[in-house]
Amino acid sequence: MASPGKISYDTYTPPERNNPVERGGNELSTKQTNFLRIWCRDFASGSSVPDESVTALAQVLQTKPELVHEHINQIYKSHPTKEQVRAYLFAETNNHLQPETRELVKNFVTACRRRYSPTDKRRSVNKGRYCCTFKCGYRTERAFDWRRHEETHEPQDIWLCTLCTPKPFLVGRKDKFLKHVNDKHSNVVAKEIQDSSKVDYVPTADLNCPYCGTESGTWDERCKHVVGHFEDVKRGAKRVRIVREDDEDEDELS
Ligand SMILES: [Zn+2]
Ligand SMILES: [Zn+2]
Ligand SMILES: [Zn+2]
Repeated sequence: MASPGKISYDTYTPPERNNPVERGGNELSTKQTNFLRIWCRDFASGSSVPDESVTALAQVLQTKPELVHEHINQIYKSHPTKEQVRAYLFAETNNHLQPETRELVKNFVTACRRRYSPTDKRRSVNKGRYCCTFKCGYRTERAFDWRRHEETHEPQDIWLCTLCTPKPFLVGRKDKFLKHVNDKHSNVVAKEIQDSSKVDYVPTADLNCPYCGTESGTWDERCKHVVGHFEDVKRGAKRVRIVREDDEDEDELS
């Protein structure tokens, strides 16, 4: 059998394409296909599965390598979108929330991630080397403000006001939550409901650097890493290359 070498989403075809595997006893079971799907999700690096991994997988599953090849090919053809992956992650990590809260939080997070238009009028000052990695056009001179802005797109903490019914109030910043309570529920001491209103939310941010692809372990690391790129620009680099999947272009950071 000729080695197909690295398998890619686009070019890989099963080695025995002209000699289709007999159906019936030669199909993978649901248990085996589930195993492959999870394996690809957790261990496949980028868009390729090396030949030796396919052989090893076939041994583990006690099946023919060509069936594994064929199934992996199918998995890549139906490669989930970024949104599907995010929805899946959210469901996995926030399963402990009450269904009603979970739905509210999911909608809130989705709305936060939606980009603001670069031309909307909500910013009066828009200068500086620190720029929004969600590409809404925001820029600032201060790293602190930059991070706070990033968290408007990717909230790390969420408060759901326990006093607001039936229309829920959610917010991603403690100072804004306290202000809400002071403004809307003036008979209550804001700090007293701060803890009970905080949602036990597990953030599901994309921790890959949008400039170089480096994956961080935490949001904090990710932010410090990205700030490093802006500091590099300060030290003389002309620009940072944006490598977000959805629209690839370069951001001038001068
Ligand atoms: Zn932004
Ligand atoms: Zn409220
Ligand atoms: Zn980077």
